[in-house]
Amino acid sequence: MRIAIPLPVRRVIGALEDGGYEAYIVGGCVRDSILGRSPDDFDVTTNATPEEMLRVFRDMHTIETGLRHGTLTVLCDKMPIEVTTYRIDGEYLDRRRPSEIQFTESLTEDLARRDFTINAMAYSEKDGLIDPFGGRDDLARRLIRAVGEPEKRFSEDALRILRAVRFASTLSFSVEEKTAAAVHELCNELDEISKERIFSELKKIVCGDGAYSALMEFSDVLGVIIPEIRDSFGFDQHSPYHKYDVWEHTAIATACAEKDSITRLATLLHDIAKPACFRADKNGRGHFKGHCDLGAELSSAILKRLKSDADTIKKVSELIRLHEFKHSSVQESRLLLSEIGIEQFLRLISLQKADASAKQDFCLPRNAELDKIAESAKSAVANGECLSLSALAVNGRDMSELGFCGTEIGEILRTLLKAVICGKLPNEKNALMEFANKNKS
Ligand code: ATP
Ligand code: MG
Repeated sequence: MRIAIPLPVRRVIGALEDGGYEAYIVGGCVRDSILGRSPDDFDVTTNATPEEMLRVFRDMHTIETGLRHGTLTVLCDKMPIEVTTYRIDGEYLDRRRPSEIQFTESLTEDLARRDFTINAMAYSEKDGLIDPFGGRDDLARRLIRAVGEPEKRFSEDALRILRAVRFASTLSFSVEEKTAAAVHELCNELDEISKERIFSELKKIVCGDGAYSALMEFSDVLGVIIPEIRDSFGFDQHSPYHKYDVWEHTAIATACAEKDSITRLATLLHDIAKPACFRADKNGRGHFKGHCDLGAELSSAILKRLKSDADTIKKVSELIRLHEFKHSSVQESRLLLSEIGIEQFLRLISLQKADASAKQDFCLPRNAELDKIAESAKSAVANGECLSLSALAVNGRDMSELGFCGTEIGEILRTLLKAVICGKLPNEKNALMEFANKNKS
């Protein structure tokens, strides 16, 4: 087994080995390299103590922020590399951070504190792969398996429960039986984990290739972090358009949407208000009037609670509010494009396609129509069509010269933009000035 290690990381390992210490790449980078994926970053583990590391790297640029926990960041050829002393985590008092950190001379002990076998391997060119818990076999079997007793490991740190679901989704792996049983048994303990950490894992879960299976198998975990979603589980839509209940429809759609966290979160939450808005007509057919607006509102509250950034909240709730937008004419579609911008417009199309893909088969042709709408929007932008106030041939100063003032200026500019987009006016200064002049109150 050979893993290609980037030169700066080899230099860091070489410096430690030359100083008489052990050093290995460890964790996610070993896992990803064996899977043939390129690692996001390379972490190094060593038996050198923090003081010894400082001595070894005295001629390199280092950042000491994590030194108390044994981590030194070494900047080598501009690449930040986290180097951490072999560690055993002490008692977990608050179930998240070990109350004390003990360093150890044993690499195996350091690997034993890690969450899953696939994350508990180390490697160096000198010693090859160090894999005391069978991580390589589990990678081959595509299995997430806790190191040691799963209940104990999840009770020490409940975030690992969410990490299990995350790796199941991002790697499309199964969760080994006992580990999965512990996930189900202990998922209520996620309440004790900080919302920021939960949200960061949630974004990765929804963006995985294996999101459908992960969401279906671990719906209970999702229900702990987003209790509002539980009403969707098994909720029969009583609709000729749907062959799945609200939750399965949601899980299929989420896995179909573009892999960007805003689009995927919006897809996860797009029908969250369906159960609350359900009304059956006299024929027993289900209707969900108002679920887009209520869904946008609920999602915004959920994301706020999860400490999401404001931009994500705004964009996700906007997509949910618009997810049944009909694009009934080119003009309407262009007006929307001018209001929300091309990036968000393409996210909406992705959500709408995902939604159509998770209904009855006769809804599938909608996908091709939506593709055409997306293409047309992209060409409108590429051709420099007038799609925003700044592209109008007149500006605020022109309007104030005509005698508009205060909020009237924005209003008349928006009216002009709408008229240009709908083809009622050319985007030419004289025509726009004349129209504005006539429309002065
Ligand atoms: P990625 O970087 O792709 O998110 P990763 O596995 O590298 O995945 P990190 O958070 O970077 O995850 O952690 C690096 C390593 O530290 C992991 O591979 C694992 O060995 C260990 N680790 C991280 N979080 C935990 C945890 N909560 N409990 C036990 N070990 C952990
Ligand atoms: Mg990592």
